[in-house]
Amino acid sequence: PSPLGPTPKLVIDLERLATLPKEKAGALARYAATIQSQRGDYNGKVLSIRQEDLRSLAVIYDKSPTELTEELISWGVLDAEARRAVESF
Ligand code: C2E
Ligand code: C2E
Ligand code: C2E
Repeated sequence: PSPLGPTPKLVIDLERLATLPKEKAGALARYAATIQSQRGDYNGKVLSIRQEDLRSLAVIYDKSPTELTEELISWGVLDAEARRAVESF
């Protein structure tokens, strides 16, 4: 177990995501919308996603999970805590 506590969740900021240009964030926005639809979870400002989903998104974006995480942090879609969630991959 990590001395920093349990692995943090990957929490997507949906309001921030909605402000980003489609060329960058379109694939992530469609993925998040699909998860919301599967859960019937439409009213959130944020969406907790599976670690497994970040792996899938990394394939879609043709990056490593670490690289994609850094990009999503730079966009303000994930917070810096997300780095620790990806370290355990
Ligand atoms: P499923 O994977 O068969 O999960 C069935 C139900 O188990 C989910 O219903 C949820 O109540 C619970 N569940 C499964 N894994 C988790 C988990 O890690 N955390 C929590 N809190 N609950 C979990 P729900 O939410 O109505 O989702 C229905 C189906 O939609 C899921 O069936 C899955 O096929 C899909 N889905 C929902 N959210 C996600 C997601 O974040 N990623 C992926 N890949 N699929 C998702
Ligand atoms: P948390 O995981 O730290 O989430 C804090 C708040 O962020 C949640 O308050 C909710 O308003 C929002 N949030 C986080 N992820 C999502 C999401 O995927 N969809 C939506 N719509 N909102 C999200 P809330 O709902 O009052 O939950 C308070 C705490 O209760 C959560 O803190 C968590 O510790 C627990 N909790 C709620 N739902 C689940 C769950 O499905 N699984 C587990 N393990 N804990 C849950
Ligand atoms: P959480 O609900 O606090 O779950 C934390 C971790 O516990 C999950 O990390 C997963 O490894 C495990 N877990 C919880 N419930 C189940 C389950 O029913 N089946 C299995 N096989 N494992 C389970 P993970 O997968 O990275 O998910 C992170 C967070 O994403 C979850 O935190 C929850 O907030 C959200 N989430 C993931 N899948 C679903 C889903 O199907 N439905 C809903 N409503 N939320 C989900």
